[in-house]
Amino acid sequence: MTTAVARKPVPQEELGPDLLERLFVCPSEKSQASFQAAISTALKALEGSAAWQKKPYSGASPEVVRKAITAMDPCPEEGRGLEAVMKDVREAILQHSVWVSHPATVAHLHCPTLVPALAAETLISATNQSMDSWDQAPAATVVEQQVVKWLGKLAGFGAGSDGVFTSGGTLSNFMGLLLARNHFCQEKLNWDVQQEGLPLESHRLRILCSQKAHFSVVQAAALLGLGESAVVAVESDERHRLDPQALARYLEVMRYERLLPFAVVATAGTTDFGSIDPLPAISELARKHGAWLHVDAAYGGALLLSERFRDRLQGLSLADSVTIDFHKLFYQPVSCGAFLVRDGALFRNIKLNVDYLNPEDEEEAGVDNLVTKSVQTTRRFDALKVFVSLQSLGRRTLASLVEYTVDLTSDVADLISATPELELAGKPELNAVVFRYRPSRVKSQERLDQLNASIRDVLWNRGMAVVGRTRVNGVRYLKFTLLNPRTTRAHVAGLLEDVRRIGRELEEANHG
Ligand SMILES: *Cc1c(COP(=O)(O)O)cnc(C)c1O
Repeated sequence: MTTAVARKPVPQEELGPDLLERLFVCPSEKSQASFQAAISTALKALEGSAAWQKKPYSGASPEVVRKAITAMDPCPEEGRGLEAVMKDVREAILQHSVWVSHPATVAHLHCPTLVPALAAETLISATNQSMDSWDQAPAATVVEQQVVKWLGKLAGFGAGSDGVFTSGGTLSNFMGLLLARNHFCQEKLNWDVQQEGLPLESHRLRILCSQKAHFSVVQAAALLGLGESAVVAVESDERHRLDPQALARYLEVMRYERLLPFAVVATAGTTDFGSIDPLPAISELARKHGAWLHVDAAYGGALLLSERFRDRLQGLSLADSVTIDFHKLFYQPVSCGAFLVRDGALFRNIKLNVDYLNPEDEEEAGVDNLVTKSVQTTRRFDALKVFVSLQSLGRRTLASLVEYTVDLTSDVADLISATPELELAGKPELNAVVFRYRPSRVKSQERLDQLNASIRDVLWNRGMAVVGRTRVNGVRYLKFTLLNPRTTRAHVAGLLEDVRRIGRELEEANHG
């Protein structure tokens, strides 16, 4: 061990006012010049990454990516200056990032970002408001509440509704089930979970959702101390929608078995197929059995913007709580989601007051400290990017983007149906089209599975396309999630040709 060099405290003058102005965003010319230069250096790194922009991915292997990045010391003793750092960022990091706005990036619900939202991101970070308390985010608090109010109204909720921004669907689903559990235990078991922990009856609590519900439902059950086995997966129909008759049967049996089905989760836009569960029928059953209805509209919620597609969400207004993500079909930078609850007063079931943050007397005086409605403390002002995007584009333009992609997906499905050697898994509901390479000459299911997995790998390794995958009844499929309004039918037709060509290459390689 070396003896530590005793270092003197550094007086502020030694740091230098010049350095401090260049380092922090503040209202001086030097600071602003430094800020502008930094942003333009970042933009140059982005633009300079030409290879990256031409392909959806560099195709680099995990080893190459790791090597490029681990070669850099995360914390050198002396700084190297932003220009030099950005050059490395471009070469080691941007170079091997997935280019979300490339027309062939079609794997996930992973969207390109709107430029107005990026402008807002700059302000979000520069002003660094923290949404937990009014005294850290006065105007921001009002903006978030305005956006939440607008969204609640769009969802068909009444004046008593409320909500909060979250990091995304996972957290919003967790909050829905958290409120549902606490509400149920309070009302039906006269038990305050927030105070007392789980009631004795907790092993009888059940959550029902379809087999195609997002895995975060099961995760939430585990986090809530109910265990994954508290989630009962109800059968879905051939279009992957929850079957209300099956739901009715489960609920009846549960009543008989003295189980406590406290929540039903319906999905409006499943991750794999975009299927929308029949909300009105599900809501009726939930109500009849005294269960909370949470609708996971993380993905499909954006249809509310569209006059043409809004009807598909009929029944959403009957939910007790709703998840909507902005970092999917609202084209916002990650992360950005919302949680809505029909009766805002129910936030009291997760309420915590802390003297230094949201003292009760302040709330009684009408000061909003949003931490009271959230399970996060420090929280970004993500509402600003949604606000700025909605304002700059307007609902109609945003709706057109969504509509274009849904129409494109349905065109692509027709194209796949008409293409030899390709098999469509089913008619798409929103943006996801699931299909596989299936030439009639290949008879073995196992071989078909291998071929489809390999096609996806080849597309990735050559940096040609970022394509999704899934299994349907155990069989491997490829998936295009067509969220990107820049993707055209011609792009996808080209990609389908690539799939077939690679499929044939792989077949030949195997025979040769
Ligand atoms: C994306 C998605 C989620 C998860 O949301 P995150 O924002 O990734 O946390 C949950 N449910 C559905 C239906 C989704 O599409």
